[in-house]
Amino acid sequence: MVTSTFKTTKSEEIFAAAQKLMPGGVSSPVRAFKSVGGQPIVFDRVEGAYAWDVDGNRYIDYVGTWGPAICGHAHPEVIKAICEAAQKGTSFGAPCALENVLAEMVIAAVPSIEMVRFVNSGTEACMSVLRLMRAFTGRDKIIKFEGCYHGHADMFLVKAGSGVATLGLPDSPGVPKNTTTNTLTAPFNNLEAVKALFAENPGEIAGVILEPVVGNAGFIPPDGGFLAGLRELTRDNGALLVFDEVMTGFRIAYGGAQEKFGITPDLTTLGKIIGGGLPVGAYGGRRDIMEMVAPAGPMYQAGTLSGNPLAMTAGIKTLELLHQPGTYEALDRITKRLADGMLQIAQETGHAACGGQISGMFGFFFAAGPVHNYEDAKLADLTKFSRFHRGMLEHGIYLAPSQFEAGFTSLAHTDADIDHTLAAAREVMSHLS
Ligand SMILES: *Cc1c(COP(=O)(O)O)cnc(C)c1O
Repeated sequence: MVTSTFKTTKSEEIFAAAQKLMPGGVSSPVRAFKSVGGQPIVFDRVEGAYAWDVDGNRYIDYVGTWGPAICGHAHPEVIKAICEAAQKGTSFGAPCALENVLAEMVIAAVPSIEMVRFVNSGTEACMSVLRLMRAFTGRDKIIKFEGCYHGHADMFLVKAGSGVATLGLPDSPGVPKNTTTNTLTAPFNNLEAVKALFAENPGEIAGVILEPVVGNAGFIPPDGGFLAGLRELTRDNGALLVFDEVMTGFRIAYGGAQEKFGITPDLTTLGKIIGGGLPVGAYGGRRDIMEMVAPAGPMYQAGTLSGNPLAMTAGIKTLELLHQPGTYEALDRITKRLADGMLQIAQETGHAACGGQISGMFGFFFAAGPVHNYEDAKLADLTKFSRFHRGMLEHGIYLAPSQFEAGFTSLAHTDADIDHTLAAAREVMSHLS
């Protein structure tokens, strides 16, 4: 924990070159550290709970490639399975028995899913599920929540949280106005607002889509009764309820937030963890709805690399590891130590802070709180977070480079890692103005 040895020369060189080659120097915006300032760190390799950068610094990683690394990075069993599968080819473009295996696992785990379609990203899953909501109901309008992110499809780029929020783009240029006129928004945890939207648009709303636990506006859990209220409202209005569990699926619990909170939506999107670190997404739900999807039904959706054997293999192995007894208890225990510890240190060092965790997902705001929605989250002290983020980085702790992102732990994080992280947090917060 000697900050004077912290050198990032090579990261700086590589990122400078990258900026001439790729917009903003990255393949995905949040990675550029725009919202915390300073240079992004260029990774060289990852293993277990750790990431090493190109300058040789080691970090305890709480991003976990934004969620998929729940078993720890480069888990030896996952890597071995991928290598073996690769010997048989990387993509078939034809049916593959591994798709059945992962489909059976997903269907057994996630209460709402009776049938599933694999795609290549969470974005693809969400844009497909939107088409399906509309195809099944014959209605065009949908309700989403402020600060919730459902990938970067046009129709969802309205009040879309993290990546969009931290770039200061209220909506994105290039999204035609008439593409988003059917996207209605409400504040998270506000049932009355949803009720009002249904009343103002009778018979026109195809469904409601949400992150059941928000992770893309920082970590915001649902208030008691919110999910149940949405279930009732959608049912009463002949609309579908869709949980976007791209982040929370297999993270909040093996069966996702829907298992944790006991609320079963009509449709669910998945991604991140079910690909075990390779590109995957999925959407699934009630059989009568899923049978609308081509070629069983008329709703078109396809993918050249969808269901490819490498991604299926990484997903299967990851879910096998997660399905062992005690995994979610272990994640919950370690993450609670981290989240509680951070709040206690903030209090002891005189910083207003709030946050929490569920299983291996956590959040921390420099705000008095409580945070029930995106408006509340925006009251957080972003300048303070930027300085905190940089300080933690210099102490070998890699946190998500935005106040509006949830954090993730893995089965590879040890008590010693948490001790080390909390010691760093105490050091950084003691000197934080
Ligand atoms: C990450 C995420 C997505 C988008 O998934 P990609 O694989 O990045 O396209 C969609 N919804 C939620 C809730 C996410 O966290």
